[in-house]
Amino acid sequence: MRKKIIAGNWKMNMTPSETKELISKLKSKCDTNDVDVVFVVPSIDVTTAYECLKGSNIKLGTQNFYFEDKGAFTGEISANMILDAGATYVIIGHSERRGIFKEDNAMINKKLVKAHKAGLLPILCCGESIELREKNTYKEFISEQIKSAFNGISENEAKNTVIAYEPIWAIGTGKTATSDQAEEVCAFIRDIIGTLYNDSVKNEIRIQYGGSVNAGNAKELFGKPDIDGGLVGGASLKEEFASIVNYKS
Ligand code: PEP
Repeated sequence: MRKKIIAGNWKMNMTPSETKELISKLKSKCDTNDVDVVFVVPSIDVTTAYECLKGSNIKLGTQNFYFEDKGAFTGEISANMILDAGATYVIIGHSERRGIFKEDNAMINKKLVKAHKAGLLPILCCGESIELREKNTYKEFISEQIKSAFNGISENEAKNTVIAYEPIWAIGTGKTATSDQAEEVCAFIRDIIGTLYNDSVKNEIRIQYGGSVNAGNAKELFGKPDIDGGLVGGASLKEEFASIVNYKS
């Protein structure tokens, strides 16, 4: 049985002071062992969030990092900085990084390799645009994203990677993929992992769905056999996130 993982991607929202406030509202309600819960906060909020989350089971993550250890990379943060500040997860290849900041598959592969070498737990995002969905070429596209990201990743590292399937047309649009559409692609991704590795990795790797997940649709989405939780954007900034975490009750 794979443990579900529900992560809130705060994106570029919340100052350190606002972080304290939001965590005080969410902490007790999201503090569970039934699922893994991760608050993926802006890098500048990690230290504050770490202090606020002490004593709970809630894990911390950042939304990006750079694959070099240190040096002249103005504006970037390293894996060791993230770990030292108390976060353990990192999102890699979010569609906003790919689209707005032009991160390509080669860059995302370097980040995935480095995250594992450094001991971070990566949440690797993939997903197609509306054009590719309508042209019915989304599977080829996602297959390429996955194969390229996992280049050089060992079996054990693959097991410790979380994949988030996030169709771009469903992110921040209020337009959720149906649970059948989400399940179809998550199962497809699991099959790709099976062909890249073996059945053990295929059955252990966790695959989330992300794209307008809310308190009303979480139960149906997370009830699907190949969907192991969610990556949640907008709803992670509200008390609604606690209802998503507790989607079974
Ligand atoms: C996201 O940013 O990863 C996301 C899924 O956003 P939203 O839930 O707002 O669609």
